[in-house]
Amino acid sequence: MINRKKIIAGNWKMNKTQGEARVLVEDLIRDIGKFDEAEIVLCPPFTSLSAVSELLSPVPNIKLGAQNMHEAASGAYTGEISASMLRELYVRYVIIGHSERRQYFHEDDATVNRKTKAALAAELRPIVCVGETLPEREADKWKDVLETQLKGSLAGFGDKELADVIIAYEPVWAIGTGKTASPAQAQEAHQWIREVLKKNFSATAAEKIRIQYGGSVTAENAKELLSMPDIDGALVGGASLDARGFTGIIKNACLK
Ligand code: PEP
Repeated sequence: MINRKKIIAGNWKMNKTQGEARVLVEDLIRDIGKFDEAEIVLCPPFTSLSAVSELLSPVPNIKLGAQNMHEAASGAYTGEISASMLRELYVRYVIIGHSERRQYFHEDDATVNRKTKAALAAELRPIVCVGETLPEREADKWKDVLETQLKGSLAGFGDKELADVIIAYEPVWAIGTGKTASPAQAQEAHQWIREVLKKNFSATAAEKIRIQYGGSVTAENAKELLSMPDIDGALVGGASLDARGFTGIIKNACLK
């Protein structure tokens, strides 16, 4: 059986000024700077990447991520940020296709596919988000929705590309709502994602890929969720904004 190292990422969304980011990162370095049982990724807003990068430079266990990027290498795209700009700041991961990007910025699977390709070409590790809405869950369409999103987002890729991709299963109805998927519901969805990947790529690629769960993860529910066999980590929004909440998730879920 393949041993998949857990990966816990904090998505700060549009929160924290640079000063606030420094305080949080200093607290995290004190608490979990030497934690080696999981891969830890912080995704601050673009404006804090440089400051956080500097603070993390002597801390190899905590990596830097971005929340978004543009697919083009450079050009007339006012307000956008390219993969090479992220690389220059030692960013290693980038969240792509978060449901808020899909909902408010009209990103579809084709956009996610182009951005994921551009991220891989720049040697960034994309965290590709998929997940169904509440009406889709209630109509029992979640399997079809996930399959369509995965096929569209990963179109044209092979096992080689997939090896550097992380999938985040984030049911839209659980994001920022305090309504978490039950461990059984989340496990069922993760298992389905692995089946879709097996069908479209290979059994080995599907077995190797890490799939994070995201949606109202807290220090209280993390252990049970992450003890499920196909849940390889968490993408954390609200609870990643304070050091106690985020370290609580990491320690509760990943300490042996
Ligand atoms: C997210 O934004 O990716 C997320 C999962 O948010 P929250 O943890 O606040 O539900």
